[in-house]
Amino acid sequence: MLSLNGKRALVFGVASEDSIAWALAQRLAEQGVKITLGYQKRFLSRLMMLVKEKPWIEAWHECDVTVEEDVKKFFSTVHGKYDILVHAIAFAPATALSRPILFTSAEDFATALNVSAYSLVRLTHYSMPVLNKGSSILTLTYLGSERVVPGYRVMGTAKAALESLVRELAMAIGPAGHRVNAISAGPIKTLAASGVPGFDNILEWMRQNTPLRKNVTQDDVAKAGCFLLSDLASGVTGHILYVDAGYNISGAPADLEQLAGAMKAVAAQNPPTQ
Ligand code: NAP
Repeated sequence: MLSLNGKRALVFGVASEDSIAWALAQRLAEQGVKITLGYQKRFLSRLMMLVKEKPWIEAWHECDVTVEEDVKKFFSTVHGKYDILVHAIAFAPATALSRPILFTSAEDFATALNVSAYSLVRLTHYSMPVLNKGSSILTLTYLGSERVVPGYRVMGTAKAALESLVRELAMAIGPAGHRVNAISAGPIKTLAASGVPGFDNILEWMRQNTPLRKNVTQDDVAKAGCFLLSDLASGVTGHILYVDAGYNISGAPADLEQLAGAMKAVAAQNPPTQ
């Protein structure tokens, strides 16, 4: 149905079994896709455990996406042609995430945008010679690109840039028959997410306030990813698809009446001092 059987994918961003990219790789494999991983060395031992006894993983190569030579080497090492590229990469220095945006250094700003946004341009550029016509590229973004989410800080700017790049790249690679889309995922507990201050509060808030009254899972994202990467989405490019249990459509807390009641009770216990 998805027509993914026999296709080959390059997947960047698997750091652990909790990675969104890992869920996507597993779902693609179920559909008959062979996977090559690009990984950063940091969690090599964890990656080695994951790839063990997975016949659907063809290869794995080290690749720091901020190092041009690494990316060049990666694409000269892979063999044959591919149909899918997954970019599930983000990083911002803790010094930027832990302090108000007013104190973001130019260096931290550049790092966040380089890793989290520019890397999509670099990977797309170098992948062109190894992609079959009609290939599909997918990246991951977050609502912090368009609204202020506490603790997300410079990552919001990086994701805004990433989303803009999805549209620019769609226009640039469309004439060659390739597509590029993004999924704006709801919050999910992963290694990258654990760097966002107050992340557990965001998770809890979403669980209580999404239309579906749940947090999305890696697998929710992976299933939607399979759609965008498949021929079922052959007419979709430059698109940001929300996989966030519907949170993006909400304009106020789900149970406003209850929240207002609780706020009144707190205010009554703490009357303003004269
Ligand atoms: P994750 O498992 O920690 O994945 C992030 C990946 O980025 C890791 O594999 C990390 O590798 C890689 N990475 C960072 N810097 C890199 C570099 N210079 N070169 C190569 N790889 C690099 O977390 P995740 O949540 O699945 O994140 C995947 C994507 O989903 C990210 O774009 C994230 O912003 C997005 N997203 C996540 C959520 C969420 O709540 N989890 C929500 C919306 C969107 P190392 O760990 O080895 O550095």
